[in-house]
Amino acid sequence: MNILFMGPPGAGKGTQAERIVDQFAVPHISTGDAFRLAMKQGTPMGLKAKEYVDQGLLVPDEITNGIVRDRLLQDDCSKGFLLDGFPRTLQQAEALDGMLADMGRSLDHVINLKVDRGLLLARLTGRRICKSCGSTYHVLNNPPKQEGICDKCGGELYQRSDDNEEKVGTRLDEYISKTAPLLSYYEGKSLLREVDGEQDIDVVTAEIVSVLRGSN
Ligand SMILES: [Zn+2]
Repeated sequence: MNILFMGPPGAGKGTQAERIVDQFAVPHISTGDAFRLAMKQGTPMGLKAKEYVDQGLLVPDEITNGIVRDRLLQDDCSKGFLLDGFPRTLQQAEALDGMLADMGRSLDHVINLKVDRGLLLARLTGRRICKSCGSTYHVLNNPPKQEGICDKCGGELYQRSDDNEEKVGTRLDEYISKTAPLLSYYEGKSLLREVDGEQDIDVVTAEIVSVLRGSN
């Protein structure tokens, strides 16, 4: 089972990916992990990537693609994989198709977790931190008993500047505009399955499982 997971930050992709790899016994391949592994193992691609990363430069597509290809060729991927965080562009999607074709494989399912932008914003901007003791809260998932006040020490809660609406909104809009062509690409190949990520997390998991089992 060769699965690709897509979804904006805050959609719960990480949580769902963990559950799915458990059920389907395939490895979870995130680009970040694949990069760290290749650099740690000092593979040719890993060494090239490290040169860019050390200089704070963007790693070119050919290296990113190479790292993903190397990872997909490892033994644990022989029965399938769940890819997450790659491809991010149409060019990378085409490269992925090419490398899978070289391996005599192809993607079976592309799952896109859909969550309304307003809800993503609320999820991603809801974190609050205590100025005195550093305890963290979330206005939706884990609110303090009294708004703006730490339950543990009575300290004042604040929002990190990275979590503000403007920055988070920009990040979301970048993600949405970059991945929209990818979604159309996979839709054109009849691989795309949208799952409503606003539901209870167990319901989301059940829907993904039924899509993957082909009963949906
Ligand atoms: Zn506190």
